[in-house]
Amino acid sequence: MPHYLRLFDPWKNPLCTCPPKYSLQPYTGCSHKCLYCYASSYIGYRDSLPKKDFIKKLLRDLRKADKNLPVSISNSSDPYPPMEKEIKLTRQALKLLLNLGFKVLIVTKSNLVLRDVDLLSSGNASISLTITTLNEALAKRMEPHAPPPSARLTAIKKLCEEGIPVSVRIDPIIPGINDDPAELEELVSRVADKGALHIVASTYKVKLDNLGRMSRAFPEKAVEWRKLYLKYGARIKGYWYLPERLRKRLLEPVLKQARKERISYAVCREGFRSKDFFNAPSCDGSHLIPLRIL
Ligand code: SF4
Repeated sequence: MPHYLRLFDPWKNPLCTCPPKYSLQPYTGCSHKCLYCYASSYIGYRDSLPKKDFIKKLLRDLRKADKNLPVSISNSSDPYPPMEKEIKLTRQALKLLLNLGFKVLIVTKSNLVLRDVDLLSSGNASISLTITTLNEALAKRMEPHAPPPSARLTAIKKLCEEGIPVSVRIDPIIPGINDDPAELEELVSRVADKGALHIVASTYKVKLDNLGRMSRAFPEKAVEWRKLYLKYGARIKGYWYLPERLRKRLLEPVLKQARKERISYAVCREGFRSKDFFNAPSCDGSHLIPLRIL
C-alpha cells in the first residue's frame, strides 16, 4: 500500500531551506490550473482528483508518524480545489490530524479554507496563502481557476481575526508580469494590514512545460523569457533560474516592504541566506504554528 504521509522531499534541491516536515496531498492534479505551476511536470496539468482510500491510508500512516514534525498540506496540489466543497477530504484529514495533536501548515490559494476555521482555530495550525498579484484580471489570466486575490485578502483578514496565524507566499514573481516594485510593495502592505505575520517570496523558475503555457498566454514576453532564462540564466536541479542579480532585484521590493511592516520574511529556493533575504525562524512559515494541543 502506498504511503500518503511522506517526509517532505525537495528532490535533494540544495537551495531548499525548508525545515524537516511531512508532506500530505489529499488530491492529485490541481484544478486551479496556474500557468506557471511547477508541480504539473510531476503530476500533470490536470484537474484535481481525490486520492483513493485517502483517509484509511492516512490513519495507518499516522500511527507511526512523529508529532514533532509539521504536516504540510499540500506542496504540489492545492488542498482546497472547488470539489473539496463537496468531498471534504481535506477537512476530514484536518480533523484527524488536529485531534491527534499534529502540527499542520496549510498551503493554499483558496478562500475555501475559511470553511474549516472551526478546526483550525482550536488546533495547531497555520495557513500559508499565496497571492501573486492584486490585479484581478492578471490573476485570472495566470491562475484561471483559483479564487481572485480579493477573496484571498478577505480570507487572510478573517483567519487572523480568528487567531489563526497566516503567512503569505508571493510566489512566483515573474519578470515583466507581476514584478512592478510599487505593486509588490502595495501587496505586502495590504497583507500586513490584514494581519499576515510572515512573507515568503520567490522568483519564477522555469520548467519547459510551464514556460510553454506562459509563453502561449503572454506571447509578447516569450522571446525575452527565453533569453533571460535559457541564455543568461542557470539550470539548477531541473529548473531554469534567472540570473542572480535579476532575482535579487525582483525580490527586493517585497523584502524592503516586509522590513518596513516589521513582519518576518524569507525567500524560497533562491540560495540567498543572509539576513537581507531570510529573516525568520523558518522560510515556509511553519514557525507560526501555535502549540495549543500537545
Ligand atoms: S495552486 Fe499550486 S499546485 Fe495548483 S495549479 Fe496552482 S501552482 Fe499548481
